[in-house]
Amino acid sequence: MTSLHDLTPTTPGLPCRTTDPDLWFSKSSTERALAQALCRECPLQQPCAQYALDNPELRGVWGGTTAADRRQFWTGEPCRLDEFGRVRLLCGSERAYRAHFGYREQPCEECRAAHEEHVTAERRARLAEEHAAGGSVRGYELHRLLGEEACEACRGKRREKSKARRRAVPPRRGRARGTSAAPGTPGAASAAPAGAQPLRIAS
Ligand code: SF4
Ligand SMILES: [Zn+2]
Ligand SMILES: [Zn+2]
Repeated sequence: MTSLHDLTPTTPGLPCRTTDPDLWFSKSSTERALAQALCRECPLQQPCAQYALDNPELRGVWGGTTAADRRQFWTGEPCRLDEFGRVRLLCGSERAYRAHFGYREQPCEECRAAHEEHVTAERRARLAEEHAAGGSVRGYELHRLLGEEACEACRGKRREKSKARRRAVPPRRGRARGTSAAPGTPGAASAAPAGAQPLRIAS
């Protein structure tokens, strides 16, 4: 594979050679941003950024990335350069899925698949906990979310809960005659005390 060192002497018009190279190592964020913009027009952007990622001791702007951009990937996490020359997590993981939202974009197909897998694994882990405790209503819901029939233990817990809920509901009682009947009904008239009869308006 051709290294950056082989490419730089043979590639004409590299911005960092034709412009003041101090821009690439400037302390001014405005100047660094200018260097980054110039890198994005450079034909060596990708190999240059990769070279800097592989050599963490490098300072300054390389391949359009700042030292701060690259620092996030010193842990050795797989990364990539996106179409704007930004260093990003390699797609295909839960973190990369979330990172898409940070960049205000929809997750790619690969990240969506990784997210699905992650959610399923989390649900399985929680279901295992519910089963270790003998099954539960939550376990029943997890089975359904996983698109499967609930196990007997979880179904049993759900039945128990439904029964308990039914027992807790007080039975409906009939109305006591003459005490709570709606106004204007025969029961209402007989229940009202004599002194509280409404006055009749003479016609
Ligand atoms: S990408 Fe930037 S730092 Fe790398 S060779 Fe091109 S201009 Fe120079
Ligand atoms: Zn992605
Ligand atoms: Zn279960």
